[in-house]
Amino acid sequence: METVIVLFNRDLRVHDHPALAAACEQARSVVPLFVLDPAIPAGRRTGFLLDCLADLREALRAKGGDLVVRHGDTVTETMRLARQVKAAAVFASADVSALAHRRQRRLEAERIDLRLFPGVTVVPPGELEPAGGDHYRVFTPYWRAWTKAPRRDLAPTPAKIRVPEGLDPGALPEAQRWGAIRGGETRARTRMRTWIDRHLDDYDDGHDDLAGDRTSRLSPYLRFGCLSPLELSTRGNEPFTRQLCWRDFHHQVAQVFPDLPRADYRPRGHDWRDDPEAAQAWAAGQTGVPIVDAGMRQLAAEGWMHNRARMITAAYLVKHLRVDWRTGAAHFFELLLDGEVANNSGNWQWVAGTGNDTRPNRGFNPIRQARRFDPDGAYVRRHVPELADVPAPLIHEPWLADRPIPGYPPPYETPD
Ligand code: FAD
Repeated sequence: METVIVLFNRDLRVHDHPALAAACEQARSVVPLFVLDPAIPAGRRTGFLLDCLADLREALRAKGGDLVVRHGDTVTETMRLARQVKAAAVFASADVSALAHRRQRRLEAERIDLRLFPGVTVVPPGELEPAGGDHYRVFTPYWRAWTKAPRRDLAPTPAKIRVPEGLDPGALPEAQRWGAIRGGETRARTRMRTWIDRHLDDYDDGHDDLAGDRTSRLSPYLRFGCLSPLELSTRGNEPFTRQLCWRDFHHQVAQVFPDLPRADYRPRGHDWRDDPEAAQAWAAGQTGVPIVDAGMRQLAAEGWMHNRARMITAAYLVKHLRVDWRTGAAHFFELLLDGEVANNSGNWQWVAGTGNDTRPNRGFNPIRQARRFDPDGAYVRRHVPELADVPAPLIHEPWLADRPIPGYPPPYETPD
């Protein structure tokens, strides 16, 4: 082939990128493209995304190539560029969301050879099917099949990329950086290496320690594909790769149930309460339950929240306040740097009991969780400064103190 466009989306890397590697192998010239599409606003993730694009552009330039950036509708801009460079084909990473499927269908309807490659998950969604079904509905059998499934080889990192001459690369806009983590493959790989060296062995013991903050924090990088989940899985131990398997699990559900962010996967007739005031208190970290407020304030300040805190805050919203999981998922999706349809909606539905949990009525007492995973209250004190001086025995139940804590609300009461 003479010229191939590699349409980047949430695979912003040069290492183990099967679509890019195949294009470099099969075409004389390659046009790496990213389209900033106003129909898919990145919201608070914009700064992180632009870091990723700047880093990708640098990596491609170091190999003699470039990243062409266009603004507008992804399909229209891809086809405009395809005509301009006389591309024979568009190579891209297959993705699972309804939006990604729509984009793939629209490109297929154009007069261009669209080829889709793996790379967004460890095992491609749809590759593992249980007897008599098109996807796994329960995690444990999926995990068993996943661990045994053959893996593709890691794609070679192209040494040289030749782009057509005289192509305007387009400018990257400026945007405010928000949140605790900066984007890009270079930072992702550094973080991966240092975290694995220092903390992987401790992951099984430490991943639920709220104050210790001992998880990898690689999720925003996985979200934007700055890291290959397959490469990461080859470096992890079993407890860690199990988490990557959860990620794959939710992706294979989203692939066959594209309504995952909107509709109950397993409707169980929940009677959600319409209570905007409660939802507002929850979102603002003002419920009066310290462990819940700490999680919600971590999210607001950092654009990231510890997994255990995500479970506690989500369960508090849906099981205690009995507010619809979609309200919570929308708030998380807006603020999380790793906010992403399959993982966010899949986990929210799991917590709400409308998803893939085999025990949908599982209880989730926030105080018991707090005592277990933040025993001396260090996580709460870090994120809820009003409680900094509350002694350890009362830190998770400050309403038991002799007098109210100045500036901190009493626990939110639900009318029953
Ligand atoms: P680590 O513990 O270091 O795990 C490594 C990687 O495994 C993570 O980066 C992530 O990609 C994957 N992973 C870990 N736990 C899960 C899980 N439960 N489900 C799926 N993948 C997992 N994760 C997102 O990436 N995006 C989301 O929008 C998202 N929303 C969530 C909403 C709720 C209500 C809950 C309970 C969980 C959500 N998660 C989401 C999953 C999980 O909380 C985060 O992936 C994890 O906290 C990220 O931190 P880490 O990178 O340090 O994780």
